[in-house]
Amino acid sequence: MFVLDSHCDTPTQMLRGLDIGASNSSGQVDISKLKAGCVDASFFALYTPADMGEKEATGHALEMLSLVYDSVKEHEKDIALAFSPEEALINKEKGLVSIMIGMENGSPIRNSLSLLRMFYRLGVRYMTLTHNADNLIADAAAEGNRWHGLSPFGREVVSEMNRLGMIVDVAHVSDETFYDVIECSKAPIVSTHSCCRALASHRRNMTDDMIRKMADKGGVIQINFYPAFLSDSYETSMPGVSVIADHIDHAVKIAGIEHVGIGTDFDGIEITPDGMEDVSKLPRVFDELTIRGYSEDQIEKIAGKNFIRVFNDVISCALA
Ligand SMILES: [Zn+2]
Repeated sequence: MFVLDSHCDTPTQMLRGLDIGASNSSGQVDISKLKAGCVDASFFALYTPADMGEKEATGHALEMLSLVYDSVKEHEKDIALAFSPEEALINKEKGLVSIMIGMENGSPIRNSLSLLRMFYRLGVRYMTLTHNADNLIADAAAEGNRWHGLSPFGREVVSEMNRLGMIVDVAHVSDETFYDVIECSKAPIVSTHSCCRALASHRRNMTDDMIRKMADKGGVIQINFYPAFLSDSYETSMPGVSVIADHIDHAVKIAGIEHVGIGTDFDGIEITPDGMEDVSKLPRVFDELTIRGYSEDQIEKIAGKNFIRVFNDVISCALA
């Protein structure tokens, strides 16, 4: 089985001094935890805070990227960069955990398709269009008043991402932005770390209609482990593995088994579900799915096969 986590904020922790090679690190993700969690590929997100100015944002993203490159080099016996599903599969054969690169918040590209292409050339394979504020590309779920969806520039960004073979990530965007992207993207789209709004009302979660439309387009929803997205009552009753499985169940019911996966959000969340303190605990989710009657083949799809399929489809669309 190939296990892929489509979203963690480990580069932000690296900026704060985290060494992912150190044993007993304070992070929720490091090399030993990735191995203990049987993770084969992890998307490290270059996260830029929404309140950071665009000029500063570009340098900020580059600084995190350089730390990821250095760290992978330093620990090349255990981990390796992968820029495609094919490379990730080769790394697995060599016994290496793949580090893949995403960008959370498109603000570092400012108003420049040239910078978007540069980040692609440097290895960024998905871009979450916004974080928690409207930017030059699109409106965010947390605001949503600037463009009422994608901006004119945002439409150009989506088509350029399609052309490059970069995955469009709609986690964090407003509902209006989501529907604009569904209409304007030629390739399947994903949410790398979102939950189901039918189970937890956070505006950042996806409605059943959004999950269905994303699946119809061939995409995938990657379930987030952040307690506030998993449960409305997380402050009085911390959700555990079973609530994570509830979101997976619900998304599977709505979208089908081919359109659900996992994007933990580890290292970007200050509280974690019961029994799911870090990425080493990931197999507990698959154990829970087994108890619920999922077959090995179905669990394999959720664990990584679905996201890999979408990634390959996005690349094929770019080549077509
Ligand atoms: Zn996020």
